Amino acid sequence: MSFYAHTEGRRAGILRAIECGLRAATFNIVYPPSLDEVEATRGQFDMTVNPQSFRLPFRESTRPPRSRDFLATYGQVAIEDLVEHDEFGVPRELTPAGESLCRDFCRLQVDFGATEIIAPYFLSTGLDDPSFEVSLLCAQFLDSYVDNQDVFAGVMMNEAALLSADTFDRLADRLTSPDVPQLFYLDIDLNVTRGRPLRDRQTLRSLKRLFDAMDDADKYTLLARCNIEGLLLRAATGLSAFSSSYFQSERVALHNQLHVDFEPAGGYRAPTPFLLSPGLLTDIPRDVVRNMTERSRKRLLTCGCESCDEVINADFASGTGALCAAHFYACLTRLDREIDARRTRDGRIDLILGWIEDAEGRSENVAARAGTFTHLAAWRQWLESI
Ligand SMILES: [Zn+2]
Repeated sequence: MSFYAHTEGRRAGILRAIECGLRAATFNIVYPPSLDEVEATRGQFDMTVNPQSFRLPFRESTRPPRSRDFLATYGQVAIEDLVEHDEFGVPRELTPAGESLCRDFCRLQVDFGATEIIAPYFLSTGLDDPSFEVSLLCAQFLDSYVDNQDVFAGVMMNEAALLSADTFDRLADRLTSPDVPQLFYLDIDLNVTRGRPLRDRQTLRSLKRLFDAMDDADKYTLLARCNIEGLLLRAATGLSAFSSSYFQSERVALHNQLHVDFEPAGGYRAPTPFLLSPGLLTDIPRDVVRNMTERSRKRLLTCGCESCDEVINADFASGTGALCAAHFYACLTRLDREIDARRTRDGRIDLILGWIEDAEGRSENVAARAGTFTHLAAWRQWLESI
């Protein structure tokens, strides 16, 4: 599958979304799937359980309360204890401690029901940070250790690495090289440049170059924590898959939170007051939806999932989180399938360009908060320039 529901802890709507057509999900090992969810995902369903190994080098990120017990048993892990270096100081192979950590995190993912394995990976500041190569070595090790499941190599970096020409070229070379794993799980902080959904032209251009190069090299790339730009990148680049959460706070990368205590001060934010409109290609604030006529709601929000009627008739006062989340995951599943059905890149670009132009036309009649639709023109201009 190429669209994954991303969930960090607020799993509202996952079971319902599965009934609505969702066929892949990525859970967080700190909030693993429930038995009901594992049961519901058996069969034609891809499930990953993110190992959260990137927390281990940060003491504050592995404190023991509640479900983090298993991360806490490791305590703080030093990257240099996981790997042996060659005479040039380059990480060359895992130590017994590194191999044992890989096996443990793999076993945990399998126990929680994962059908695909994400190898332990770590936040790196760039290619010269040993954490980058250690993450690749973990994936290489598990690739030969695991028999029947695909293994993803994790890359966790800030967007800056993509935007610097020098780092970018080396990154693209490294990730497309034949001696690194075939499958990549990219955990990149895309919140640095202003504007989500992503519409910064330089970032889009860099991502396209990277994903096209990886596709040409027969690599499979899953981009985590996308907003709806995941659809744009699937249509216009060699990106293989993406994950996205209904909850906007889960679309923000964890990169900057690893050195602070895990539990957010003041608790978690209230459920996200947005609804995805497939017709407008964006998340619409609920107060805008509330003021729409029933006819507009039907026209702009319907995706054909089993939650749509309820979503359209809801007053959004309370208790609609599961409904809206299921609709979000169903919408993205359906749109992503439509992209998949187009055989050629040109066909896919034509398809999404058509959606964008339709959305621009429709948005003229919707009174929305400033900024709700500004990504559409930027996307169209970018597509027309490639
Ligand atoms: Zn729907």
